[in-house]
Amino acid sequence: VEETLVLVKPDGVARNLTGEILRRIEAKGYQLVDVRLIEAELDLLSQHYAEHVGKPFYEPLLEFMQSGPIVAFRIAGERVIEGFRSLAGTTDPTTAAPGTIRGDFGRDWGLKVQQNLVHGSDSPESAQRELALWFG
Ligand code: ATP
Repeated sequence: VEETLVLVKPDGVARNLTGEILRRIEAKGYQLVDVRLIEAELDLLSQHYAEHVGKPFYEPLLEFMQSGPIVAFRIAGERVIEGFRSLAGTTDPTTAAPGTIRGDFGRDWGLKVQQNLVHGSDSPESAQRELALWFG
């Protein structure tokens, strides 16, 4: 069965939304397989976000992701990769659809990086790569 990596980013953990996010994942019917609370180091983050090197939000993104603990979930389920991205909503939380995690709980913080509460792998290849990074 398919697996994906979900991260509750530092803003989500700080705002005590970890339980609400997991509740929505489980309510949809997906299975929690593993969980870790991590203070991510630069090395892990730069591997995770390798595709964004050089973009204007890259440095602020890595700084933001080091601003507090992150909760990593390994989640399993049929078509869970696209299913979780649908639960999460679009990248910009200001315009993400109500009913999604970002749409219901996120907003624009006026910073250089979108503090959008969650990350979800975007393909089977990135899920495999990211799960190896975060769960080893
Ligand atoms: P999606 O793929 O749905 O856009 P994502 O989380 O996979 O969401 P990425 O494009 O991989 O988004 O970007 C990684 C993260 O970098 C985003 O979640 C967001 O926190 C931040 N980010 C992306 N694009 C921007 C941007 N234009 N301005 C500010 N921050 C951004």
